[in-house]
Amino acid sequence: MLCASRPFSLVIFGASGHLARIKLYPALYVLALKKRLPKDYAIVGYARSAMDENEFRKLVEDAIREDMPEVTEWALKSLLEHVHYQQGQYDDLADFRALGERLGNIEERWKKTVRLAYFSIPPSVFPDVLENLSKGGVHKHKEDNDFRCIIEKPVGSDLESFEKMRSALLKCFKESEIYLLDHYLGKEAVRNIYYLRYANPILERILKHSLMHHVEVTAMESAGLEGRAGYFDAVGTLRDMVQSHLLQICALLTMRLEKEEEVAASRLHALQQLYQPHAATLDDLLIQGQYAAGTIGGERYLGYRQEDSVAKNSRTSTYVALKVMSRSSRWEGVPFFLRTGKRMSRKETRISIAFQEPHAIGKGATPNRLDIILQGEAGMRLHLQTKLGGTDPEFRPLIMNDPLVCMGDCLPEHGLLLLEAIMGKQQWFLSFEEVRAAWQMIDPMQKHLDQKSTKLCLYPAGSSGPDEAEDWIEKQGMTWF
Ligand code: NDP
Repeated sequence: MLCASRPFSLVIFGASGHLARIKLYPALYVLALKKRLPKDYAIVGYARSAMDENEFRKLVEDAIREDMPEVTEWALKSLLEHVHYQQGQYDDLADFRALGERLGNIEERWKKTVRLAYFSIPPSVFPDVLENLSKGGVHKHKEDNDFRCIIEKPVGSDLESFEKMRSALLKCFKESEIYLLDHYLGKEAVRNIYYLRYANPILERILKHSLMHHVEVTAMESAGLEGRAGYFDAVGTLRDMVQSHLLQICALLTMRLEKEEEVAASRLHALQQLYQPHAATLDDLLIQGQYAAGTIGGERYLGYRQEDSVAKNSRTSTYVALKVMSRSSRWEGVPFFLRTGKRMSRKETRISIAFQEPHAIGKGATPNRLDIILQGEAGMRLHLQTKLGGTDPEFRPLIMNDPLVCMGDCLPEHGLLLLEAIMGKQQWFLSFEEVRAAWQMIDPMQKHLDQKSTKLCLYPAGSSGPDEAEDWIEKQGMTWF
């Protein structure tokens, strides 16, 4: 069982913010509950907000109580005993010096301490923090392998801003100290794509271009902006969902299988093999939509442009569908159709692998299909055909179904990734090369979507996306599953 053995201090910059409250504090609580943390550790919140230590502990406690269906009091109490708060500006060296001193005092008696800086702040604040981390004595090279800087995706908003951020980070840190986090790579169900392939040689044998027809990767959510309109309106769904999460799912499905330690290199290679096929216009490969008002589960929802903090004429897409392929010989000629949208009828993240048409043997036989449902009603379903009783060859679907619910000792994605970061396990974090490969693919698509001449198709909240996306996939000779 993975447990942090070395003492650590985790500084959370932006400790008052959204990500820290909804993900980091609940994840740390679960690590405390499951006894995955060492005896000596400190969680030091750093932010501008005026709070004393008790008020900050209350913020952490409230975030945990809000997230957890039930709280085990000894675990919460034990976590809170390790929580500290340091108020400061991001652009004030004296405040960083005070933070550095505080960390030094906390860690005074610890041996082989790991220090982590979690950038839970908007990217516009990164330069100030980077400037002050070393000067303020927060980032110190005592030994190799004792400092980590954790940054959530998206890393940059296009290739150019990514390269700038990469240079800025590499001026301050060694690459081995930088942990680029895509929380999908911390999800048990997403990692399971790799393990399913590794542990089931029969599955590997059938994932061959000569047997496969096409692959659909769908990530729909019924949720809308969840209080993040400012971020989302500037970014849109292609950059928010496809640039990292969906391309990573494709990479895990198409990569060469290597030992887990090599998984990052395999993902990179697979990402570099993905491409958009030649087409007369990008409209043949990419379609965008935006939700209008509608109803989900009997409840009425506003359209995107009526949401708070969204411009009345915003052209930001909340839905995209696109076609990509892989140059890998195993996947040659197999089209991948990716789609993702907000305020859709339900939450579901699913890979569906459609196999070739069955032989013309009788009525009702449909192609075999393997669904791996990662979120929503998670499960794995293999669609086979079986003959109905009778003298005529007539078929009915035989669906082998496993709920794929996480059995065993599951950790929330940020918990697992934090634990791995503390332990210096980097293979489920993104490398700069992976992020670069993703932006190289996304940039031309985003430019196309940003052009005023590119159509933005409306769809009602609670639907399965724009009608145009149905027509688009039909033109490719398929339908969405
Ligand atoms: P927030 O907007 O909640 O900001 C976090 C904290 O940073 C705030 O509480 C505030 O703390 C400080 N802050 C905010 N704006 C500024 C500013 N303009 N100048 C200086 N300080 C500021 O961000 P999130 O928590 O949503 O996101 C943090 C990081 O995580 C970002 O890089 C984001 O891209 C990434 N991320 C977030 C996700 C999420 O679900 N929230 C999902 C994926 C990635 P104070 O004023 O107290 O200093």
